Amino acid sequence: MTPLFHPHLINGPRGDPALYIDCLFRRRALLFDLGELSRLPPRRALRLSDVFISHVHMDHFIGFDTLLRLLLGRDAHLRLYGPPGLIERTGHHLQGYTWNLLHNYTTELVFEVSEFAGDGHHARALFRSGDHFRRQEATPPTPVDGVLLDEPDFRIRTVALDHGIPCLGFALEEKTHLNVWRNRLDALGLPTGPWLAHLKQLVREEAADDTPVEIAWHDRHGEHRRELPLGYLRREVLQESRGQKIAYVTDVAFHEANRHAIVDLARDADLFYIEAPFLHAAAERAADTAHLTARQAGRLAREAGARRVIPFHFSPRHSGDESLLEAEVLATFEGR
Ligand SMILES: [Zn+2]
Repeated sequence: MTPLFHPHLINGPRGDPALYIDCLFRRRALLFDLGELSRLPPRRALRLSDVFISHVHMDHFIGFDTLLRLLLGRDAHLRLYGPPGLIERTGHHLQGYTWNLLHNYTTELVFEVSEFAGDGHHARALFRSGDHFRRQEATPPTPVDGVLLDEPDFRIRTVALDHGIPCLGFALEEKTHLNVWRNRLDALGLPTGPWLAHLKQLVREEAADDTPVEIAWHDRHGEHRRELPLGYLRREVLQESRGQKIAYVTDVAFHEANRHAIVDLARDADLFYIEAPFLHAAAERAADTAHLTARQAGRLAREAGARRVIPFHFSPRHSGDESLLEAEVLATFEGR
């Protein structure tokens, strides 16, 4: 099975949190946390459509200016999601510069910023380059069951966690994963092409089996056109399997309320990115700063039934001891 989503920690496990998730074949990418972005090639940054920010401590938001600079002068609409306070902070970043030359641009850059609060007080605002990035209120989101983004083939779910301040955890859940059997296509004399994306879309929308699917192509014999029912194609050329799940949790205190919420969010994740800043020997420091220890991170990943755990956000205090942090996470994750 070819995974649809390809995650990658831009700054590795030691640097600022920023998990870049490339969507295969889509020219689209998602980002969990907006730490330093100077290592992200501009062409990859320009693919970003949605950025999810756990909280607005500096190491999770300092990359905003890098994105702003790259996007300025382009037609772009970037959506940001985060906890209460994100709209105000984004506004401060934008108002930190002088914008008297914006009228020279024929393009429009828009930041759409949505806040998700655990108590249901959500908010949304727009900042448009054509309006000198002044804050403009918009209809607040109404997430059902913590779903911030619901697309035909995946959703992003969030939960408000406690880090002394509200801090969001995220999970990307692919809906049914659909693969095309190339050999069966060949056997049926059907070509590859954009019709396959349309077919997958119909399947995800649960269209009726007798829905006609048009297949058009041309080769050296000329133009061809066929129409086959959805149910037939679904059976003959598609393989359906459980979708990918990627969970992301960072900057959280270790206590019962967080523990239940985290385990619930990350349940059965294929990949669980979880912070492990401190060794358990520094548990007091972890508790004082509302962070996890490596042992606690491994335990949460185990309780969630994650298939694989990827620890990150290592504290500079343990510089040179990264392998110890990883070993401590894996020891509790594997139940040793
Ligand atoms: Zn923090």
